[in-house]
Amino acid sequence: MSKRDYYEVLEVSKGASKEEIKKAYRKKAIKYHPDKNQGDKAAEEKFKEAAEAYEVLSNEEKRQRYDQYGHAGVGGAAGGGFGGGMSMDDIFSHFGDIFGGGFGGFGGFGGSSRGGRRVNKGSNLRVKVKLNLSEIANGAEKKIKVKKYVECKPCGGSGAQDGSSYSNCSTCHGTGQVTRISNTILGQMQTSSTCPTCGGEGKIITNKCNHCAGEGITRDEEIISLNIPAGVEEGMQLSVSGKGNAARRGGINGDLLVLIEEEKHPELVRDGNNLIYSLNVSIPEAILGKTAEIPTVDGAVKVKIEPGTQPGKILRLRGKGLPEVNSYGKGDLLVHIQVFIPKDINKDERKAIEKLQGAENFEPKKGSAESFFSRMRNMFE
Ligand SMILES: [Zn+2]
Ligand SMILES: [Zn+2]
Repeated sequence: MSKRDYYEVLEVSKGASKEEIKKAYRKKAIKYHPDKNQGDKAAEEKFKEAAEAYEVLSNEEKRQRYDQYGHAGVGGAAGGGFGGGMSMDDIFSHFGDIFGGGFGGFGGFGGSSRGGRRVNKGSNLRVKVKLNLSEIANGAEKKIKVKKYVECKPCGGSGAQDGSSYSNCSTCHGTGQVTRISNTILGQMQTSSTCPTCGGEGKIITNKCNHCAGEGITRDEEIISLNIPAGVEEGMQLSVSGKGNAARRGGINGDLLVLIEEEKHPELVRDGNNLIYSLNVSIPEAILGKTAEIPTVDGAVKVKIEPGTQPGKILRLRGKGLPEVNSYGKGDLLVHIQVFIPKDINKDERKAIEKLQGAENFEPKKGSAESFFSRMRNMFE
């Protein structure tokens, strides 16, 4: 759709002053104002078109670009403009001041009640769920009991005794909105606001339900079963739509927000999707090698420790970590090998160690920074 020339939209000349542009926009905005043209799509388009034109022409820099390059100079994201996607709320928040102040009359724009009856929304509920590593690794179904507002059964959430004891609100005639006409220097203006009698619902209950006193909700407990996906972590929040508090008189339920807590594993430490395990071996085991049992989230596995294993070596057990949430990736289990050096030894042990002192293969090689880095690299082989 090709855009009309902004000067044409506001009906001003190319050389129009800032004041003239502002005045012209105000005229258009009032003429096509949604509160004066309810339900008129064409008027809404004109209203938006005028706001877009004003947004560009009222800004010196944008106006200059527009004069030079036309719509291309200010369109889309590059222009920082609205690119035609300006919503009514945008317009009011940007240019609301043009209607307000001395002009009076216009108030109560925006908000959830504009353009019809208000729908009640139940509040969100927050719960915490604690999971152990095995549940996090595999995903878990958790049943939790929550105290919350639920729909009143006897009246089906309507709040009316026999389900039909309503009458249209006489103040707003069922629209949920009241309209006030006021005289201003610009002529008659129409203001809409939420009906104070029915609170925007458009109807009045004539015979209230005894069980809920007309609220349509009661306090109760509900068992909710949660399907927690694998890979979640401490502090994550899942949202279960519609499982929060029920809304007054048959509105939309709130959401249930589930905060994840992680139970500490006695031996495994989580690092993102990886798990870390610290394995202590003795000096003879490091020299001679051994088979070690390593705990994982799904039970222990046997791992071979090669003869001559250096302290600080890290063995990577691929895929034995945690899955990525909502993805196919999986972390690893990193086994960090430490060699236990005893502090207190008895006579026999001392004799054995003394024999090794100075033994050919026990002489340390000369250390160097080079070997430090190559060892760091080898750790992750
Ligand atoms: Zn009303
Ligand atoms: Zn009820």
